[in-house]
Amino acid sequence: MSVQSSWQFCQKCYALFYNGRSDQGACAAGGAHSPHGDNFALPYGIATTASTQTSWQFCQKCYALFYNGRSGQGACAAGGAHSPHGDDFVLSHDIPITSKSQAFWRFCQNCYAMFYAGRSDQGVCKGAAGGPHSAQGDNFVLSFIDLNPVIDNIQVTDEFVVTGSNFFPSDQLTLSYELSGGSAFSTVPGSAGCVAASDGSFSCPTPVQGYPGPDFELGTVSSFGVTARDQHGNYALASCQVDAEGSIVNFQKGQSA
Ligand SMILES: [Zn+2]
Ligand SMILES: [Zn+2]
Ligand SMILES: [Zn+2]
Repeated sequence: MSVQSSWQFCQKCYALFYNGRSDQGACAAGGAHSPHGDNFALPYGIATTASTQTSWQFCQKCYALFYNGRSGQGACAAGGAHSPHGDDFVLSHDIPITSKSQAFWRFCQNCYAMFYAGRSDQGVCKGAAGGPHSAQGDNFVLSFIDLNPVIDNIQVTDEFVVTGSNFFPSDQLTLSYELSGGSAFSTVPGSAGCVAASDGSFSCPTPVQGYPGPDFELGTVSSFGVTARDQHGNYALASCQVDAEGSIVNFQKGQSA
């Protein structure tokens, strides 16, 4: 079974939308979608059963997940009908939830989008002239990735190599270093290696020798802290010391400098 992650709840319109592109699509509540909460992973490429439904697809105009199994494609927040692109997702419904899944995801019979119906109101629907979504049919249960980001290790060779896991899959990471002398620096966005893999792990090399900064020179830095942060606001801290030979000692997870 394959899954695609980076699907998130939009806290403005309540639709499930794909947050893995450089922008956030078109929201029925105006502007772009605004992500909130868990990172859902949707299965595709599997056979359907009595408790799953297929024909759920990404709309390349508004980025919402919508049901493409009817004769029409529903009302798109970007105008006209939704425009399907990519995989056919196969989603579970009416099954027990676990610690890593959420129920009350429903089909909207006005706009055909998947939306979260577990709040006190039903969001904003393009198919209802700005009114709320209208749930119909099955109660979908979607699985999410349990983010618990951690820095696993720091090694020093001719550069710092920071490794970590459980970050938002495929996100660009920024590593910030705070040195005991008071100076600080961060990796430049787009730095080689500073991207989480599809399983949320990373191994990011950061140059040490000759790095700009008056207080940063091997043999003079006694301790430093590292913060690794993804683009969804998930972060992890670690701290350690550098001995006289430049080796990392006293590595500690979850400690700021
Ligand atoms: Zn939205
Ligand atoms: Zn659309
Ligand atoms: Zn709707």
